[in-house]
Amino acid sequence: MSTRHLQEYDAVVIGGGPAGCATATVLAQKGRRALLLERDDFPRYHIGESLVPYTYFSLERLGVLPQMRQSAFPRKYSVQFVSVTGQASQPFYFYKTIKHPCAVTWQVLRSDFDQMLLDNARAHGVDVRQGAAVREVLMEGGRAVGVRAELRGGAGSVTFRARCVADASGRATLLAGRQGWKRRDPLLDKISIFTYFKGAKRDPGLDAAATTVAYIDRKGWFWYIPLPNDVVSVGIVADASHLYRAGRDPQVVFDREAAGCRWIREHIEGARQIDKIRVTGEFSYNSSVIAGDGFCLVGDAFAFLDPVFSSGVFLALKGGEIAADAIDAALASGDVKEAHFTEYENQVRYGLDSFRKLVLKFYDHEFSFGQFIRAHPELHPQLVDILVGNVYKDLQPLFDAMESFARDGAPMEAAAREPVNEGKV
Ligand code: FAD
Repeated sequence: MSTRHLQEYDAVVIGGGPAGCATATVLAQKGRRALLLERDDFPRYHIGESLVPYTYFSLERLGVLPQMRQSAFPRKYSVQFVSVTGQASQPFYFYKTIKHPCAVTWQVLRSDFDQMLLDNARAHGVDVRQGAAVREVLMEGGRAVGVRAELRGGAGSVTFRARCVADASGRATLLAGRQGWKRRDPLLDKISIFTYFKGAKRDPGLDAAATTVAYIDRKGWFWYIPLPNDVVSVGIVADASHLYRAGRDPQVVFDREAAGCRWIREHIEGARQIDKIRVTGEFSYNSSVIAGDGFCLVGDAFAFLDPVFSSGVFLALKGGEIAADAIDAALASGDVKEAHFTEYENQVRYGLDSFRKLVLKFYDHEFSFGQFIRAHPELHPQLVDILVGNVYKDLQPLFDAMESFARDGAPMEAAAREPVNEGKV
């Protein structure tokens, strides 16, 4: 089949998830000609439903707060932790520490949320093409100059030329995978098994749409995320060796683990499982390269981090914003060079690393957040900063103190027994 060449753009963005939509929309807001190529038809299923408060500012910049406020997405006021014995902590209410509308965030149905972001990109002037699977990033003299995409319906192979290519292909990691840049995070080598229930229990009042993190003994945790229409997303994250210790049938594994986790068992008792069991492996990874001449990687296409602190959508949106700022400045200079992405790289790696340091402590059986904060009450605000997404700031005092905190053998679930609100994470 012949390859056709279509018009030239300032930027071509691969993927219409949160990272791609944010990149393309901000570029369009700046008057740039942006093309977004998305493989799938929307609405489509996607995991990643719980937002953190600071997602608000990206949603504000993209201009979608009115839609979010009108949406049926449950309002998330808090997160709570449940110990292995089934004892729930006090919910951590964001509004107790943040005096800003961002303190109330959302649990989103990603099919609707991503559709909203894609429609919004189109409304801002982004040329959005769906059913367009990018097969190749075109390189000339070491510089990205466009992409080759396969269009739906037998329309064949088309090349789009652009002054910059942003790879926001998510876990498909188009560039990082092809180029051999992808590295698994050996300290966070987990898998996840998840599904959806109708008619599961909801806690009363403000807690009705709280995210619950329920520990399983030293091995991992369950999430419980209330969604619209009486649906709840329930999933487990743990080492594969633990989950597959007696067989690999994911439904059997999920049922066994749910039965063994008292809080989850009690909340889904009598509820109906309404979706198939889904499995995600290759949990945490990042790319050794984030940008080069004429291209950059954004969102999960660059890195994915264990979702225990619900950081993925936030990092994808924020990364898209910063990438678009960097691309715009590079375009203005007349030459999109790798050096234009230095600040982008610094910010993205810093934000990701801030969450990662906390994630590693979460899985550290000898670290107790409760004990740490009792010893360092002055660092409580910095810990809250990471939990809500306020990560693009100096958090070094927190990291230094966490690293040097005396190891006392406290099990990781000890944190769950501590009340985590009212200034006592
Ligand atoms: P995606 O949302 O994956 O978007 C990438 C898009 O690119 C897709 O639409 C795909 O179709 C398209 N694409 C791929 N390849 C091509 C191609 N070749 N051509 C054209 N298009 C292409 N995050 C949270 O914030 N909260 C959570 O509670 C949470 N829970 C999670 C639980 C699990 C088990 C997992 C695995 C992730 C979770 N995440 C969560 C993370 C979240 O899902 C991601 O971080 C987020 O979706 C990243 O957005 P993105 O735009 O980078 O990628």
